[in-house]
Amino acid sequence: MKKRYIRHAAELVTCKGPAPKKGKDMADIGLIYDGGVLIHDDKIFAVGTTEELDKMVNMDEYEVIDASGKTVLPGFVDSHTHYIFGGYRANEFSWRLKGDTYMSIMERGGGINATVVPTKEATLEELVEVGKERMNRMLEFGVTTVEGKSGYGMDCETEIKQLRAMKKLDEIHPVDVVTTFLGPHSVLPQYKGKEREFIDMLLNDVMPIVKEENLAEFADIFCEKNVFEIEDSEYYLTKAKEMGFKLKVHADEIVSLGGAELAARTGAFSADHLLKASDEGIRQMAESGVISTLLPATAFCLKEPFAPARKMIDSGCAVALASDLNPGSCFTNNIPLLVALGCIYMGMSIEEVITALTINGAAAVDRADTIGSLEPGKKADIIFLKFPSIHYMPYHTTINLVETVIKNGETVYHKEW
Ligand SMILES: [Zn+2]
Repeated sequence: MKKRYIRHAAELVTCKGPAPKKGKDMADIGLIYDGGVLIHDDKIFAVGTTEELDKMVNMDEYEVIDASGKTVLPGFVDSHTHYIFGGYRANEFSWRLKGDTYMSIMERGGGINATVVPTKEATLEELVEVGKERMNRMLEFGVTTVEGKSGYGMDCETEIKQLRAMKKLDEIHPVDVVTTFLGPHSVLPQYKGKEREFIDMLLNDVMPIVKEENLAEFADIFCEKNVFEIEDSEYYLTKAKEMGFKLKVHADEIVSLGGAELAARTGAFSADHLLKASDEGIRQMAESGVISTLLPATAFCLKEPFAPARKMIDSGCAVALASDLNPGSCFTNNIPLLVALGCIYMGMSIEEVITALTINGAAAVDRADTIGSLEPGKKADIIFLKFPSIHYMPYHTTINLVETVIKNGETVYHKEW
């Protein structure tokens, strides 16, 4: 058995306790000063102060890792991304800065459909290759588990190709991948006005294959006015649940449509975006335990007001933060940017931000029993920051402080400063 002992962490963030953390519990990150972690093979064996752990171990049996002067945390969970796609949309970004609207960009050939064509044209190997590069960047930011969605094909072949690329990456890359089927991401021109027909095609022709080949664990939909409205979204989610998919919903991003309420009603794991969530939707998410996954980098790139994180936490919601890495509205997976936006603009404390990026992110992908906190029996997914306190995270604005990443007990990334 391989045994490693992380000793003398200036601050050890455990995030232990029942998950997800809701409301005021989000501020409790289980901090231990001069902390340590014992790793046996790929799992955490014990967590405590260095003094406590020293008494437990025969030091000769362990590879000792000195973490003095460092902050040690659970690996981050990026619980909402669209990181597998072909092509780029850099022109579109500049059009938007000049004032083009979402609709006028669509008319000029931008938008989701501008990613559909190059994603259809890309081979499986090409998608794996770009995916690997993007996952290497995730690892540098301390992300040890990522959720990835399909949704840039909206036909059987391309949706399945995207999901297969992510399954392959899960096998070959240290970062773990949780896959989500997002066939109803947008309405292709030929299905405009026939949204129900499109959903039925996905339910009947595509999703049985996805299920049979175990290509996706979650099903998601872009529930929005003039895209998939509440009635069609509820129909899709209900059927997907019957097929055995766990649910996620892109909800209340552009208008207050009742997406948060829909997520609560259908028993979704998370409702995501939520810039325009209603007070009633917030109340229902808190009551039902739906995780409110907020994507502030997207709001930032689109110059939209941020989701009401403070109000949600004060109302008892479990909030997660994720990057939403995608080729259109938000081409970043920068975790320190999420920390900055959470702390500076959304009224969250650094403790709440850490909870949102770790244990609550894990809960949003139904992995809270194996990752997201440093507790005995969980995967040894552990990151070291260069500095001795969590308070350096918002203070070093958008600077990546991750020095070491341990995945399943192995050191998979180390930065020399
Ligand atoms: Zn999304």
